[in-house]
Amino acid sequence: MPLQRTIASEIICSGIGLHTGKKIDLVMKPAEANTGIIFIRSDIPSRPEIKACVENVVDTSYATTLGKDGHNISTVEHLLATLAGLKIDNIIVEVSSIEVPIMDGSAAPFVHLIKTVGVKNLDAEREYIRIKKPIKVTDGDKKAFLLPSKDFRILYSIEFDNPVISSQSYLLKSSIETFENEISNARTFGFIDDVDKLKKLGLAKGGSLDNVVMLDNYRVLNEDGLRYKDEFVRHKILDAIGDISLIGKPIIGHLLADKSGHALNYKLVKEVLSQEDKFEIVTLSKLDGKSKVKQYPKYNNRLALNL
Ligand SMILES: [Zn+2]
Repeated sequence: MPLQRTIASEIICSGIGLHTGKKIDLVMKPAEANTGIIFIRSDIPSRPEIKACVENVVDTSYATTLGKDGHNISTVEHLLATLAGLKIDNIIVEVSSIEVPIMDGSAAPFVHLIKTVGVKNLDAEREYIRIKKPIKVTDGDKKAFLLPSKDFRILYSIEFDNPVISSQSYLLKSSIETFENEISNARTFGFIDDVDKLKKLGLAKGGSLDNVVMLDNYRVLNEDGLRYKDEFVRHKILDAIGDISLIGKPIIGHLLADKSGHALNYKLVKEVLSQEDKFEIVTLSKLDGKSKVKQYPKYNNRLALNL
């Protein structure tokens, strides 16, 4: 019976903010069962709390921003992905600025820090959201579906008009090991043509080749190149794991995403929560033995996206 988990002891680290360019302190603390993921702005005297949940998403344009009562915390997506990927249900995250440090642009530094202190089981069983019927959202040619499945899988496809990225697809059978080995190292990416635009908006002040895979029209500009040939689609999966985690509990279902991004991923989460007949909240001990989950027949290929 899977129990809820937290980190075994406090983690203190610091890094640069992607958009502010400032040095930011990050402290992660163990939390009790059923706390969820709580951000605290430690730079504000009243130390406001912002819970990681879809109701608190206030902006998705250049990073995911959560907000509550006028206080925001931005660039949360890679840390949220790490917590979901390592199955950390409860944690307090204190941040000394308006954004979580970008680290190297991937989830790997967070994974390393959490593995260094270890995780601790709590005295409460973990609950899951099991998808019972297909749920689909689209935006033009972008699609994001959740289908019934006996475990959590992600099939993600992207298509860019850039020869380095072009079309990429990746199927992740989600587990702590696959997250760590296949996804957590994939870095965020950007295009050199967009840098001026972002800088004019006062954004990306901390962006550098140390934390972004940068592309021009023909090649990767980072000296060491890519960590994987398909690092781009792997990073989109990393982002999606963080986005989808804002539903509040791990999902039992299959996420199919084609050209999706933060905004559509959140739309999918909201759509799920608005249709109570299409999901149920279960514990694995209740589901064991009784589960007759129907696999969606065409779920494992791109055709499924045309359902
Ligand atoms: Zn990202």
